Amino acid sequence: MVDNVIAVRGVSKAFAGVQALDTISLEIAPGEIHCLAGENGSGKSTLIKVISGVHAADEGTIELNGKEFSKLTPMEAISNGVQVIYQDFSVFPNLTVMENLALTAELAEHRTFVNWRRMRRIATEAIAKINVKIDLDAKVGQLSVAQKQLVAIARALMSDARLIIMDEPTTALTKREVDALFGIILDLKSRGIATLFVSHKLEEVFEISERFTIIRNGKHVITCLPEELDHKKFSFFMTGREFDDA
Ligand code: ADP
Ligand code: MG
Repeated sequence: MVDNVIAVRGVSKAFAGVQALDTISLEIAPGEIHCLAGENGSGKSTLIKVISGVHAADEGTIELNGKEFSKLTPMEAISNGVQVIYQDFSVFPNLTVMENLALTAELAEHRTFVNWRRMRRIATEAIAKINVKIDLDAKVGQLSVAQKQLVAIARALMSDARLIIMDEPTTALTKREVDALFGIILDLKSRGIATLFVSHKLEEVFEISERFTIIRNGKHVITCLPEELDHKKFSFFMTGREFDDA
């Protein structure tokens, strides 16, 4: 019986002279909306890269689907349901929405030539999954930031994702776009897909998370429910500094 989509156990990662992660542990339940909070440089992106197999951990393990990995590869992460939406979305700006979506599927199946009718059907299904309207024939480079992000999310959902990781996804979004993104995250939840939402913004973390984890200088500080921590304590745990309101 697997009751987590992921269990990170004692993961450490150092770069030349910097201990980016220091024995971090974290578990996420199926369908859970979990925020990873921390100031700039606290190790959030590094943790994502270890979870997605981009960086090998120096120590510790990642458990996915009941399997324990000490050296996780990007393919193993994907085939065990982990998808990352990066800050730059990793979309191909000179290709259309349809091409961005369908090429991912075609490449995954190692096809040697492109069947355009099949591509259109696959791309239509992918966009329908997130219930938004986007012109499949628009060049992705000409879309708004929010629309590029939707293409990246639709693409992530083309695989059997069980955990979608979003690295600071609201950085360039308007309030309305943030609300739309939160709607999509709740919809993912209703389908049993968990989200790891990475943010350093207090208001967002309290609005969207069911549970959050704060890290500081690569170390785990606390994992708790939003109602267990007031804003002042949250800021203290993020920064390590007391704020004097007086
Ligand atoms: P965050 O995403 O929370 O802002 P990062 O995970 O990007 O933090 O960075 C954590 C620390 O690791 C920082 O001190 C950063 O400079 C360092 N770091 C991250 N990636 C690398 C890398 N590829 N090489 C060297 N240092 C890195
Ligand atoms: Mg980062």
